[in-house]
Amino acid sequence: MRSVDVIIVGASLSAAAAAKRLVDAGLETIVLERKALPRHKICSGILSPRGHRFLLENFGPLPRETLHEPTACRGVTFHFPSMVSMSMDFFGGTTPHLHRKYSDHWAIKQSGAEIHDETSFAGLTDNGDHVLVHARKNGEPIEYRARQVIGADGPSSLVIRSIYPNYPKQIPWFFVGQKFHEIIDCPLDTEYFHFWFHPGLGHYTWSHARDGRQIVGVGFKRGDNFARKHANVVNYLADKHAVKLQPHAEDEGCAENFGPSLINRYVFGKGNVLITGQAAGFLNMIGEGMSCALHSGAISGEAIVEARLRNRPVQEMYRKMVASEVLRCSDQWNPLKIAFDRPHEADFPAALMALSWRDRAKVLRDMWRFVVLYKEFKWGRQIARAALQRPWLRGYSMQKWM
Ligand SMILES: Cc1cc2nc3c(=O)[nH]c(=O)nc-3n(C[C@H](O)[C@H](O)[C@H](O)COP(=O)(O)OP(=O)(O)OC[C@H]3O[C@@H](n4cnc5c(N)ncnc54)[C@H](O)[C@@H]3O)c2cc1C
Repeated sequence: MRSVDVIIVGASLSAAAAAKRLVDAGLETIVLERKALPRHKICSGILSPRGHRFLLENFGPLPRETLHEPTACRGVTFHFPSMVSMSMDFFGGTTPHLHRKYSDHWAIKQSGAEIHDETSFAGLTDNGDHVLVHARKNGEPIEYRARQVIGADGPSSLVIRSIYPNYPKQIPWFFVGQKFHEIIDCPLDTEYFHFWFHPGLGHYTWSHARDGRQIVGVGFKRGDNFARKHANVVNYLADKHAVKLQPHAEDEGCAENFGPSLINRYVFGKGNVLITGQAAGFLNMIGEGMSCALHSGAISGEAIVEARLRNRPVQEMYRKMVASEVLRCSDQWNPLKIAFDRPHEADFPAALMALSWRDRAKVLRDMWRFVVLYKEFKWGRQIARAALQRPWLRGYSMQKWM
């Protein structure tokens, strides 16, 4: 059995950031990834400026193969049922449009950790002074022994389920699906990621250009008909935005743990097991998760290093150190912060103020209807209620963290 300092589960961005901190501190680190690398990851790939800075500072300039076409994104355009559209540029210029298959592989290699791909985490036993990790490679069981384990295995985290079997039942889940279309004519600006605040289309509806095709994506709940929801959006785009697309050539989808950052239900682990990235609940508003995956991942690695140096329990260290990232992520949902501060990386207040008074009123009314009056989802109403009951001015209670 291989015995190392730290095992990280998942070979994505949060894992790369955690691994970088551990390897830099001289800790022997193995990353387990269930798929063969480089692996596909469903994602729009629009990296926020903060995420971009993290990659540059920690891993260096991005090689060309880590980018899709168009290679950069200028910002986000919100579209409303009243037909007002509002484009917001990212602070500090354009950001990269990541090809996750190659960007994640590049980052994890740059971290210097040892990578065991096609190796699925299957469970663990925390024995206090070490953790036994049970995995499977080519169908055969394989075991590792580590001082600490980091679960960086994304929204459906098996590491979380191995320490908190009931956790998935306690948080809201939703599904996203996207289809890839050849373009006949598409007036949507290719430099922006487009998002619709339209209850008639769904709670999460987006479109953007990639490698000469147009992606049209929708969020839906269990039991919904994805094909029907998607067709509804395609018809709406044709009708209202003159977007003409060929029937889709490919599609894909996945389950998402949307909402923990809004209702402050993060999960950071137990004993010698830390949870980070989207598995922990980090997902910024409108589903931007790479920057907080990178930062929370780095903090999980730093927490292990610090706990060893100071001879403190690793959970105590991680929860203290990750509090700043929690605040940053949850502040993105705070209406007071949105109105009077800049919790996002694109300038919403400036874009709003650039509109006429009439259009501003329409936008605010449409957003209010979208967030609060959204009737389709029981959990949507729960989230809206929780958001409105938040003690916005008092900061965030730590009690809901697991
Ligand atoms: C449709 C869609 C569009 C998105 N668009 C954007 C965007 O434009 N910008 C943005 O910032 N974010 C976007 N996101 C969110 C972003 O993709 C995630 O938040 C981010 O990838 C989370 O990173 P992570 O490191 O926490 O985990 P993940 O990227 O989810 O990676 C987890 C890794 O763990 C591996 N794994 C899982 N289980 C096991 C196991 N049992 N054993 C071993 N390995 C395992 C997986 O194969 C994977 O490699 C989007 C998400 C979706 C679904």
